Amino acid sequence: MKKYCIGVDVGGTSVKLGLFYHNGTVLKKWEIPTRKDKKGSNIIPDIAASIRSELVNEQIPLSEVSGAGMGVPGPTMSNGYVSKCVNLGWINCNPAEELSELLGIPVKAGNDANVAALGEAWKGGAEGFQDVVMMTLGTGVGGGVIMNGKIIAGNRGLGGELGHITVNCDESDKCNCGNKGCLEQYASATGVVKIAKRLLAERYSDSMIRNVEHLSAKKIFDAAKKKDGIAMEAVETLANYLGMALATVTLTIDPDIFVIGGGVSNAGEILVNTIEHYYKKYLAISEKRAKIVLASLGNDAGIYGAARMVLDQDVIEEE
Ligand SMILES: [Zn+2]
Repeated sequence: MKKYCIGVDVGGTSVKLGLFYHNGTVLKKWEIPTRKDKKGSNIIPDIAASIRSELVNEQIPLSEVSGAGMGVPGPTMSNGYVSKCVNLGWINCNPAEELSELLGIPVKAGNDANVAALGEAWKGGAEGFQDVVMMTLGTGVGGGVIMNGKIIAGNRGLGGELGHITVNCDESDKCNCGNKGCLEQYASATGVVKIAKRLLAERYSDSMIRNVEHLSAKKIFDAAKKKDGIAMEAVETLANYLGMALATVTLTIDPDIFVIGGGVSNAGEILVNTIEHYYKKYLAISEKRAKIVLASLGNDAGIYGAARMVLDQDVIEEE
């Protein structure tokens, strides 16, 4: 009888893997390095070999594994097709199909931020909710949209690319995507540092973060918690743009809950409370709003979501 599933989260430096029971209990987690040379052609064979050897160690035959899911750091179609994944060197390939052929089990793939959102919806901060939107505030801003428990990848793999929603048409700097004024330019770790540096240059007021070497998002939030004026203004600016984006998303799909993850979310309650303030402001149309919570799976959200991808709802309900 099939009772296991596998979650794979492919990152730029390492691949995280997890072996799960169908109910979402993790049996084993491990990592292997991502070999990006030769246009990333070793990555999938390395993953297949690693899964085979771990299953042998655990004395689990492949016939008892329902399948594997995989998070890919780039736009991924629902059929697994990846046209370009800059981080890994992949061009015009179908890594899910390749892994499925190597292992002889079904494999599904999705964009890593979408997959992380599915993980948080399954066993994380949004457990028990069907319509979930996750914002991952890291170096950039990743987004993931789950409706009726399923990832919305979209027709061109752009579903959930919430970091590139335009929130400021007056921005003069370019985003990595080529546009100017994307959410990612303000609500990421690099974004909030840039906001703070701009404020420090414009204002003459004293500040704990003035003349700080290697200014970081953490240092800004720490200063904001101590009521430093410029740091608070930087946090307000971030929350203003993020609240605007959450209101936009609400007016598009009206989810149950928003999950805020990524390194910036370690700031905790101050972040959620400030975002809530602006979300409410921009959603003046309704008194009823989606909940905003912090993510709870950390770096494991990807393997949880990936494992969940291969399970149909009926499989879960059978248990
Ligand atoms: Zn952009």
